[in-house]
Amino acid sequence: MSNIHSVLLKPDKCKGCTNCVKNCPTNAIRVHQGQAKIKEEYCIDCGECIRSCEYHAKYAATDDLADLERYKYPIALVPPSFYGQFTQNINPAKVMLALKDIGFFQIWDVALGAEVLTQVTKEYITDTDRPLISSSCPAVVRLIQLLYPELLGYLAPFKSPVEIIAQRAREFIKLELGADDEEIGIFFITPCPAKMTTVNNPLGMEKSYLDRAIAADTIYHELIRRVDNLDESCGIDGYDIPYFGISWASGGGEANLLEDINTVSVAGIHNVMSVLEELDRGDLAHVRYFEMVACQPGCVGGVLNVKNPFLAEFNIHNLTKKGINLIKQDLNKYDFDLQNPFKEKSIASLDDDLIVAMAKLTRLEKEIEILPGLDCAACGAPDCRTLAEDIINGLASRTDCIFILRQQVADLADEMATLAHALPPVMKRNKEEDDDDED
Ligand code: SF4
Ligand code: SF4
Repeated sequence: MSNIHSVLLKPDKCKGCTNCVKNCPTNAIRVHQGQAKIKEEYCIDCGECIRSCEYHAKYAATDDLADLERYKYPIALVPPSFYGQFTQNINPAKVMLALKDIGFFQIWDVALGAEVLTQVTKEYITDTDRPLISSSCPAVVRLIQLLYPELLGYLAPFKSPVEIIAQRAREFIKLELGADDEEIGIFFITPCPAKMTTVNNPLGMEKSYLDRAIAADTIYHELIRRVDNLDESCGIDGYDIPYFGISWASGGGEANLLEDINTVSVAGIHNVMSVLEELDRGDLAHVRYFEMVACQPGCVGGVLNVKNPFLAEFNIHNLTKKGINLIKQDLNKYDFDLQNPFKEKSIASLDDDLIVAMAKLTRLEKEIEILPGLDCAACGAPDCRTLAEDIINGLASRTDCIFILRQQVADLADEMATLAHALPPVMKRNKEEDDDDED
């Protein structure tokens, strides 16, 4: 598996249709010779290309259940969205029992991390004038690092709920059982490739507290196979289900818990981009907190889930109604702080050298004028501007544009027709001679 990204291509399935090219929010994909290729430095693992490929040529590489065997203490971290995959006859308690049956030593709720993070965020907001953008969705954080670095200072400077819980679980097992680090395997049940990628490529940290991530759909099918035969007598008595934290799985859940703070909740990566642009223009200064997630309608829409996102959202709403209070927890037992601030991911689109870049910019403007401006993606790039950039960077040629190619072929045909009549004088007969012959 790529250590940098979890979203990969199955070359034999790709038909070169350019659907993914058009839907990628960061213009990371090009189709060349009938194959979609991801430019790794631009990919934020949002999963849009997986969602938009009707040939199933894109997929997310994740870990496997067989990996549990590698650890003495395999621990499952359940995201709020996972509970939305089940209807009422499989409640959170049953999900936990089934996970134990699969072979996990302990089960931890990421929703607990969401609840404690809510409390810390509330305090932080009252102490700052800046609006805050949630940093819980890794695809959104990577998007800001790549395309909106001027907004990095707005990102909430906290670990995500999953990292908060992973660290707490690891410390707990080490302390309670005297376990060594390498005996503990922290597995996240991931709804999306973005969170899969953070295992090897964490944000704001040198190393993730997670060891592995297994796709939600993999665990779901194994769980359904076992759930009818569970021995419910060995239940989970005394465990308070963090129903409010579970509400984070659907759009608005995170923001609603901030109660009287002015919040905006945005779901879907393209919607996130349009709100970030408004924030960049300074149009949203009255908003104190932005919940922003790449999937619609929230993490229940992650591409590695099973249920229709809107039915999963319905299940989450039903669960949330059971919540009475946030679960009482000692905040001192959790570590919220990032090791490093979120940093810009700078990619010079033209050149590192400023003088070369300026010269290329002039060429770029000319190239854009030459191209038809239809943004049809038939060239394999998402739009004419991106094709122009690829041309001046030597990665594409002007004739990749079918309109230019067609015009060149038509011009060539005209030229050939003209040439066909332009015979040398010795072979040419003039019109008067032809007319005489006819008489
Ligand atoms: S995962 Fe997202 S950013 Fe990466 S190539 Fe696919 S659509 Fe583009
Ligand atoms: S919205 Fe949730 S499921 Fe989707 S990419 Fe972000 S974290 Fe993953």
